[in-house]
Amino acid sequence: MSNYLNNEATASTEIPRNENEVENANQTGLEKPAFDPIKRIEKGFQFFKINEFNKYPDYYRQLAEKQEPKFLMFACSDSRVSPTNILNLRPGEAFMNRNIANLVPAFNKLRYSDIGAIIEYAILALKVEVIVVIGHSRCGGIQRLLSLPDKKTSYDFIDDWVSVAKPAKEKVISKHPHASGEELQTLVEKESVMNSLVNLLSYPYVRTGLADKKLKLIGGYYDFVCGKFEILAVDSDIKPTIDI
Ligand SMILES: [Zn+2]
Repeated sequence: MSNYLNNEATASTEIPRNENEVENANQTGLEKPAFDPIKRIEKGFQFFKINEFNKYPDYYRQLAEKQEPKFLMFACSDSRVSPTNILNLRPGEAFMNRNIANLVPAFNKLRYSDIGAIIEYAILALKVEVIVVIGHSRCGGIQRLLSLPDKKTSYDFIDDWVSVAKPAKEKVISKHPHASGEELQTLVEKESVMNSLVNLLSYPYVRTGLADKKLKLIGGYYDFVCGKFEILAVDSDIKPTIDI
């Protein structure tokens, strides 16, 4: 890992980012280039192939044989909060689920079988050691939860899904009856992480892993407005124990 990090500085500077292309276009007064998805995918993979895959053949040869991720992570589908980017994860480090508002519903064999399958496989087959639920600032899913009930707009799936965090919303509103706007949203975003951690306890494999001390649960919160990552204390009082 340290070898990988140390070599980062020597990586090719030709980073395939659309933002760079747009910035260059703006500087030269040219019009924004048309978005070419195939070109973007090809350039992105080429960058990874040169700077990662070809550079660390032993690492990727081992990884081809088996994965042994230490983490199972739940993060939001929001394009700004990928744990791979913000926590500098390499392939093989984290088994992952990303969904709207980074929610984990309680154990239910009749619903949410995708989430259940991920937890079951991660613990029983991959033997992950840590489950991390990562919330984030300005979450659209939590914003939608706060707007419910909404008689004007309805969605086929979103409202039902974000309602998984309804207990968090109710708890925050009863504890902070005067909170509103961004303050209320931040409190619910953090409490929702706690709600998901509590829901994780309803999975028998999680309970067994915790009892055997082979598993840990961690709550995290990424604030992309000020670029901060907090580890949330799991006592549900939303007190950060570590500020990074
Ligand atoms: Zn979100």
